[in-house]
Amino acid sequence: MIAIERGVTIVMELASDLARPDRMPAESVPLTEAMNRILREDIVADFDSPRFDKAIRDGFAVRFEDLSTIPAELRVIGESRAGQPAAAGTTVATTTCCEIMTGAAMPAGADAVVMVEHTERLSRDCVRILRTVREGEGLMHRGMEMREGDRLLKSGKKVRLADVGTLASVGKARIEVSKRPRVAIIATGDELVEVRENPDASRIRNSNSYSLHAQVVEAGAEPVMLGIARDNLPDLREKIRVGLEHDIVLVSGGVSMGKYDFVEDVFSEFGVKVLFDQVAMKPGKPTVFGHRGDTFVFGLPGNPVSTMVAFRMFVRPLILKLLQAEDTAAPNLQAQLDVPERRDSSRTAIVPALVRFEERCYRIRTAPWKGSSDLAGLSRANALVVIPHGEGMIEAGEWVEFLPLE
Ligand code: AMP
Ligand code: MG
Repeated sequence: MIAIERGVTIVMELASDLARPDRMPAESVPLTEAMNRILREDIVADFDSPRFDKAIRDGFAVRFEDLSTIPAELRVIGESRAGQPAAAGTTVATTTCCEIMTGAAMPAGADAVVMVEHTERLSRDCVRILRTVREGEGLMHRGMEMREGDRLLKSGKKVRLADVGTLASVGKARIEVSKRPRVAIIATGDELVEVRENPDASRIRNSNSYSLHAQVVEAGAEPVMLGIARDNLPDLREKIRVGLEHDIVLVSGGVSMGKYDFVEDVFSEFGVKVLFDQVAMKPGKPTVFGHRGDTFVFGLPGNPVSTMVAFRMFVRPLILKLLQAEDTAAPNLQAQLDVPERRDSSRTAIVPALVRFEERCYRIRTAPWKGSSDLAGLSRANALVVIPHGEGMIEAGEWVEFLPLE
């Protein structure tokens, strides 16, 4: 049995060995498909932004010195709208101003914008200003957000919501991202029926294929559903043979000590080199990892929560590594434990939990759940809390690590 951290290291080292630089080449995708993909090019500003001194309020472009006593009456000499600057030659001189809209270019001579709410229009070309302004108020100077040539996003970054807008703003209608590894998903078990079926009393629906599908998509890879293999050698051989043609194959169930747990036997028949098959983790102890050629092979424990936890600990970082993502590790987040927890003497527990931010720090407690088959219990949680193995209790108020689930 190996420690979780050791298992992660083994997976990541193998990934370094097997991931030739061109393993997951870059491909071009339209911007509308960029979300969650890993960038393979640096994104650079093609212009200063804003490209000119820009109004950030609707109102009047003024010389702030004209407003040292208020109210003040100014002559309106023109208009500057977004997309249509004031007429050429418009210069705001003493006691004049220019009507202006958010996003429009500041006319020459003006150094502040008074919001329209603080004015009173007296006639077509005269306005009364009711408040003073500071120099530079209501405007943004050229290049304040970005300078032409600035690197805005780095190769290796996962494209998040705001990045999509940033990419659009610098003209990236298509972007280079990592091609997604293909991940085969195989469920095993004589007791499983398909989701749409009605199981009789001795059967259950196959949920693992679907939770794994969702996890594969979230991690940025492409799931390939190979269905259910029954607990017999011919069926397992057929599905695993196809699975081995992918970048990663995930088999759930059939890896414990049961009489019909044949998955490791079939791995061995196919020449899969197993690097570990027991992890000091609770749940998730019978997690198998190996490879055949450059296909990564996982036998994940069958219980639905165990499957998901093992994916999160070992498969997700592998996918991110293959994608050449800059961050492959989970964020290192810590919370104060609300309620004491008993440690397991030999295995680190990774337990569904509820975390909240209160009084300047994260506080966490385990969520009500009934063990490694209790998916509904995991659905009630918003984090996984890590309870390191050892003797005795972790007391309330002690700091523990957690992985957010949202
Ligand atoms: P196993 O490791 O195959 O003995 O599976 C352990 C437990 O997980 C058993 O109770 C199985 O019925 C359950 N299980 C295995 N595979 C799945 C699956 N695809 N969906 C839901 N439960 C499963
Ligand atoms: Mg089974």
